[in-house]
Amino acid sequence: MTTARTLLQLDATYARDVPGMSLPWTAAEAPAPELLVLNEELAAELGVDPAALRDADGVRFLAGQGLPEEVTPVAQVYAGHQFGMYQPRLGDGRALLLGDVVDVHGRRRDLHLKGSGRTPFARGGDGFAVVGPMLLEYLMGEAMHALGIPTTRALAVVATGTQVRRERMLPGAVLCRVAESHLRVGTFQYAAATGDHDVLRALADHAIARHHPGAADSPQPYLELFRRVCAAQADLVARWMLVGFVHGVMNTDNTTISGETIDYGPCAFMDVVDPGTVFSSIDERGRYAYGNQPAIMRWNLARLGEALVPLLGDDLDATGEALNEVLAAFPDLYERRWAGHMAAKLGIATPDLALGNDLMTLLQAERVDFTTFFRALSTGTARDLVLDRAAFDVWAARRDALLPADRDAVAAAMDRVNPVRIPRNHHVEPALRAAERGDLGPFLRLLDAVTTPFDERPELADLAGPPPTDALPHITYCGT
Ligand code: AMP
Ligand code: MG
Repeated sequence: MTTARTLLQLDATYARDVPGMSLPWTAAEAPAPELLVLNEELAAELGVDPAALRDADGVRFLAGQGLPEEVTPVAQVYAGHQFGMYQPRLGDGRALLLGDVVDVHGRRRDLHLKGSGRTPFARGGDGFAVVGPMLLEYLMGEAMHALGIPTTRALAVVATGTQVRRERMLPGAVLCRVAESHLRVGTFQYAAATGDHDVLRALADHAIARHHPGAADSPQPYLELFRRVCAAQADLVARWMLVGFVHGVMNTDNTTISGETIDYGPCAFMDVVDPGTVFSSIDERGRYAYGNQPAIMRWNLARLGEALVPLLGDDLDATGEALNEVLAAFPDLYERRWAGHMAAKLGIATPDLALGNDLMTLLQAERVDFTTFFRALSTGTARDLVLDRAAFDVWAARRDALLPADRDAVAAAMDRVNPVRIPRNHHVEPALRAAERGDLGPFLRLLDAVTTPFDERPELADLAGPPPTDALPHITYCGT
């Protein structure tokens, strides 16, 4: 019989390439593992037969149980600024890197468990995760992927059969996550803080080889690495902004080197346009509000730049200047990406930053539902969503002047980038609550809806559109 263990050839590239930045560790026991959801498409991409992951050994594997001897899971260490405060030692408190595989496209991908028990980095935490938040990460990640946004992905959620104490007792779960890597800005912060330049260099070389191989050809590979991470993150945040995604906890330990979205905790999608949109109960000052995300990303990248300083040569003035030059270019770079993606949403052939910005001002003043508006723009019904018709008409005339002649082609292209359905908070919450009670039906239906975001599907009409006007504001809690 072929099982998951023989099918998945797990390597230990990170532990081997970057010594001293991870600890071998074993997952806690999962007494009664039960597969809640499996990503068959992703399994196939990894070269695994989904059926092998569904059998008893496969499910145990997905919860970190009964691993073959040659697999050595590790807990990765990292530091990070959490809400601006430096924490010298965070790390995988409840997660393990199983290893990496080369997928059917030849891409190296990490396999990682979240909720697999305490590690030496657990600090006060219990090491566990519960079903609701792990299904949320599954749903959000797969929705983002379907929207074309770089993200870690979910392979499976397995209920462990244990009860975990949160605000009440809740069913425990392990998420099996797939990522281009789990290198974070915080990983570099930790490596820099060790004072051991060999460790930092090994980490940077690993990051270059894995994510930004072109940087190796530069006369200044580490500066070029920095430049490329900044570019990847500028594009990522621009994409977030244009689907109304609010990450909610953009700490430097939740900012990747690959440019993938990572760690779906208190995240949520904005309904009406408002730069001040904050969902997280712990983000009292709105540090990570929708409109702050580009500036926060730049701040996080500045921390990456600082961590790289020891690799950038002995002339500290020149190093500072070079880093500042890259950072100073970030807002422009971000705006260019934003304007480019916005052009696609508007159906115009050439980016027009002012046109996009003026639209955002109009939508904000009118408190228009972001997602609904863009879909309505291709069908010609957007005007009905705005009260100040005169202001809309002035803006629409400017856009009309930039539209290509073939309007049907424009509308079709717009419908391929403007989603009908996103994970709306008022649908996510009840789906997760039902799943906690053992009914996965609403979750699976919502997953289907948000992973086919651009398709008109009348049978899913109830999952499109904004929440009822009398709905309470959505608040996300960090009790993950
Ligand atoms: P986050 O910002 O939520 O991604 O996590 C911040 C840090 O807290 C990471 O180092 C996590 O591994 C750790 N952490 C979060 N929840 C737990 C938990 N229940 N047990 C142990 N560590 C945790
Ligand atoms: Mg995190």
